[in-house]
Amino acid sequence: MPHTALVTGGNRGIGLAICRRLGRSGLDVVLGARDTERGRRAAASLGPAAVRVEQLDVADPDSVEACAKRLAAEGVQVDVLVNNAGIYPTTPFFDLSEETMADSLQVNLLGAYRTSRAFVPGMVDRGYGRVVNISSTGGRMSGGGPGPAAYGIAKAALNALTLVVAHSVPFHVKVNAVCPGWVRTDMGGSGAPLTPDQGADTAVWLATLPDDGPTAGFFQDRRPITW
Ligand code: NAP
Repeated sequence: MPHTALVTGGNRGIGLAICRRLGRSGLDVVLGARDTERGRRAAASLGPAAVRVEQLDVADPDSVEACAKRLAAEGVQVDVLVNNAGIYPTTPFFDLSEETMADSLQVNLLGAYRTSRAFVPGMVDRGYGRVVNISSTGGRMSGGGPGPAAYGIAKAALNALTLVVAHSVPFHVKVNAVCPGWVRTDMGGSGAPLTPDQGADTAVWLATLPDDGPTAGFFQDRRPITW
């Protein structure tokens, strides 16, 4: 039976490219979208691949819980979780409102916290799992510290979450973080050098790692980078 991958924020940008590539690799794909209609349109653009669309707003605990319940009720087991949903607030620290800071943490950090708690225990029970957290060099603590305040702090915390989850599960569940590079999406802007498909490459590699693949790592271009 093919593995099933859930991709958050799968309706555009890097998330949609990850859905496309995972589908082409033979996985069943659950495309998570906070707006179901946008999710359906995105899924239609993927052609005949086995894609199922689920309403999933990672900033809303009820939405994550309801999605997990619907999938469980229909016997859909999530083997691969790609925490891709993200927002990119760039306000300088002393101009930053508490609301913007909280929004960034809600999506960029707590989103992955919620989905990890909802879907990783099933992976542990079933003896197979891959978790890929789409982070950023903007969350790196080495080399001068994080990038834009609310974004950098949340991605640094996502990196910490990656290690905590990786160290909370047996070795058959691989939990890694990835920086996709600077990618031409709504977030990355039109001047970015990488296509969404190129930006998806390392995430898809991590999502389909063999059993002797790495865990608890941070990667870019399929190579480890420092936290
Ligand atoms: P994007 O084009 O702006 O797409 C962001 C995706 O996240 C959209 O599908 C969006 O859904 C979804 N999203 C936002 N808030 C959400 C929520 N509360 N619940 C569920 N989905 C939500 O961004 P992208 O460039 O593809 O970025 C994808 C990931 O890569 C992000 O984690 C980002 O931080 C990371 N990244 C990107 C770059 C880059 O250069 N682009 C560089 C480093 C890291 P809606 O359509 O509903 O808004």
